[in-house]
Amino acid sequence: MSIFTVEILDEPPAAGDHNTLGGRPLLAAGESWPACFCGKPMVFFFQLDIPFLDGDHLLVFQCPEHDEGVFGPLQLPERYWDTVTDPYEGPFWRFLLRPAGSPAAEADPHLQARRLVLHPAEETVENRRGRAGFKLGGVPSWAQEPEHYRCSCGTDMVFVCQVPENFGFDMWPMREGKEQVYLFLGNEVYIQACPARCHPEALWPAIQN
Ligand SMILES: [Zn+2]
Ligand SMILES: [Zn+2]
Repeated sequence: MSIFTVEILDEPPAAGDHNTLGGRPLLAAGESWPACFCGKPMVFFFQLDIPFLDGDHLLVFQCPEHDEGVFGPLQLPERYWDTVTDPYEGPFWRFLLRPAGSPAAEADPHLQARRLVLHPAEETVENRRGRAGFKLGGVPSWAQEPEHYRCSCGTDMVFVCQVPENFGFDMWPMREGKEQVYLFLGNEVYIQACPARCHPEALWPAIQN
């Protein structure tokens, strides 16, 4: 199983970079910048090419204000990316996985943009847990018991990306009175995807701490 660690470089990305934290998302034709159910444009957290899924491009967005964890059944229901939104009344996060598009006209205004680099790595799996840290592939470092989801299309989901616990994304100074923003309140996030790629939003965040 391929595994890559994700390094955050201390330099801003160039327009058109595929692996970035913040910056300009590579949106597909006809795709608009995701908005939360509250109407606010979501924060663009990061994007990465996924080498073991045909180079498809993962993008991660979430509302700057609505950031609780989301929890779903292991058999995910139809259109879970839009319909499983508890504790809120609508979608507040958006993941996308499909071929990379073109850079959005504007960069994300919240985050201090950084270039990301993937490094092929190895890991030792102990007690069903892989290495900690920001990574693609391999085995999640599960803070609790492993959670294996099944997509609404009937396909078992595969683990794609891990964001470590309390991973603060630096905001531009003086924005909204905060210095960092967190995905799902800073819980550890294990992003799983439907390997059949039945829909560009067929991804799910397993969330633990
Ligand atoms: Zn919101
Ligand atoms: Zn599916």
